[in-house]
Amino acid sequence: MAITKTATVLGGGLSGISCAIYLQQFGYKVSLVESRQFLGGRSFSFKYQWPLETIDNGQHVALGCCSYFFDFLDKIDASQYWVSDSPLNISIRDTCGNKSVLRESTWLFPFHLLPSILRFPFISYSERIGIILAMLMAKIQSESEAMSEVSFHDWLKSHYQSDRVIKRFWSVIVKPVFNDNLDNISASMGIMFLKVGLLGKQGSADVFYPTAGLSECIGFPSERYLRDVGCELYLGSAVESIQMDGNRIREVRLRSGQVVHSDIVVSALSYPNLVRVLDDSNIPLAHLSGDISELRSSGIMNVYLWYLRPPMEEKFCLVVDSPIESIFNRTDIIESNHTSDAMRLSPDRYYCVVLSIGNANDYMKWTHDEVVAFFSEELVRIFDDPDLKTPVHVKILKQPEATIRCQPGSTKYRSQCMTSIENFFISGDWTLTGWPSTMEGAIRSGYSAAKYIHEGYYA
Ligand SMILES: Cc1cc2nc3c(=O)[nH]c(=O)nc-3n(C[C@H](O)[C@H](O)[C@H](O)COP(=O)(O)OP(=O)(O)OC[C@H]3O[C@@H](n4cnc5c(N)ncnc54)[C@H](O)[C@@H]3O)c2cc1C
Repeated sequence: MAITKTATVLGGGLSGISCAIYLQQFGYKVSLVESRQFLGGRSFSFKYQWPLETIDNGQHVALGCCSYFFDFLDKIDASQYWVSDSPLNISIRDTCGNKSVLRESTWLFPFHLLPSILRFPFISYSERIGIILAMLMAKIQSESEAMSEVSFHDWLKSHYQSDRVIKRFWSVIVKPVFNDNLDNISASMGIMFLKVGLLGKQGSADVFYPTAGLSECIGFPSERYLRDVGCELYLGSAVESIQMDGNRIREVRLRSGQVVHSDIVVSALSYPNLVRVLDDSNIPLAHLSGDISELRSSGIMNVYLWYLRPPMEEKFCLVVDSPIESIFNRTDIIESNHTSDAMRLSPDRYYCVVLSIGNANDYMKWTHDEVVAFFSEELVRIFDDPDLKTPVHVKILKQPEATIRCQPGSTKYRSQCMTSIENFFISGDWTLTGWPSTMEGAIRSGYSAAKYIHEGYYA
């Protein structure tokens, strides 16, 4: 007779969801505990009162190279919500009203970006040649421990990239992926992104964005899938503490007073929440590999602005020489999805753009009026349109712990999935995934933990 093993997953973000999906697929009876009433973690949407629309906690995109993410979408039947302008066709604007396009020439693969870089207008011709040489060096750069100890900024400098070209090209392309300045990104991570994303397979740099609220694209379909396969969901149930018996976890106690028992427990909590739960349970952090108390986060601020007429023509653009990393034409993106009733525009018909500002912790200290004045003025300069100074309405969303920093030397702080507690495992975008803190990293970590438990631990 087959014996069903039981597993409890703590946290219903992308990592916990993917871990639960794969453990269930490997034959485990899974319970998933999530403190909020819905799944999705740091990727969710909610109803905004005025204008009555669904908005996200923060604009999310995925690149074509995020293979685990797209497999995950297929599994939960949500691929239809994510679209891209394939082949790659990204609008790039500066703050003087000039516009360029980074376009993929598919027939030139693997030199698909060459024509666009040679035409990139915001730097000199010799700087463009320098970029191509640095990309070639990245392509042949071997992985070494030393690369994780120096910054991507310093690696670029040692490959003859001027401050101007770092600011006007490399930051524009690389900063949004890591939500950080280039001197806060290790060279190994920056080069990994160049190899896998920009110089990877055909389509690997295509930018996919959701055409409905994030919960409609991730959380709700995940919940449907997990219920269908028989996973027990404890929603709105925060983990209070973990109780040990010798070197094993005996039970998980929830704030509701419920107690959950299982053969194994996987934490898919973010690292600050895991530290809190372990502390409240008197379980030393030394049980985890990696010194997670040394991990640091970087914040993202999203500014939603509504106007009386369409403020931009393209679906989204990156910005040179501005604290705004990218601007999304939210109305146009949502309108392209005619199936999404929840996202229909308000009858008053306002047009919404979303500004994504990375590494934004300093801006988060500003007042609402200071943010509106500064960033609407920035929009006036980017689109050379004085009317953008006066949005009809503005909503500012601040996420101070949006992503973990991939600083030089930080790889050793990220935990592996196994711990020294016999039946306790770890996943999350902050664990040792080899990826930056992204949806792809979170899903990879959940899958790896499930696979390790299935093949390694209980084999
Ligand atoms: C504004 C913003 C923009 C982003 N943009 C992008 C992007 O464009 N592309 C991209 O790939 N990534 C992006 N990210 C990062 C991405 O969202 C995260 O990497 C990913 O969602 C992390 O998933 P996770 O499951 O590891 O962690 P989380 O999503 O943090 O999941 C942890 C879960 O644990 C729950 N929890 C906490 N405490 C308890 C407790 N005591 N008991 C039970 N449950 C608990 C939380 O509610 C949460 O649901 C962005 C993040 C933010 C915030």
